Amino acid sequence: MKSTTPEKMISVPMRAAIVRAGSNGAGTLCCLNCRAELELSQPDIDSPGRLVGVCHGCCNHCGSCHVIDADDAAEALVVMLPSFDAIREAIEFNEALGCPPRPTAAPAPAPS
Ligand SMILES: [Zn+2]
Repeated sequence: MKSTTPEKMISVPMRAAIVRAGSNGAGTLCCLNCRAELELSQPDIDSPGRLVGVCHGCCNHCGSCHVIDADDAAEALVVMLPSFDAIREAIEFNEALGCPPRPTAAPAPAPS
């Protein structure tokens, strides 16, 4: 059985950009690191504007993963996720500082 460390609040710098559609209304979303065209997928069939964009890690491309909010046809918010190494370093830094675990949310009130 897998064990889970306590959930932590961490701060990790991320690249983000608002990409506006070109004059023809169409636009290609590119990796915020290496500028390669992202391969887009829609994880939730009910949320067509919420996309995941992957930069393939071949041919000198970096392999970064992006989350994209493209509900507005005129522009898209593109956020490049930090590397797992950067996230692990932030968790370890947080633990080294002795930061307490994130408080758990209060249970929802019982329906009346
Ligand atoms: Zn890339």
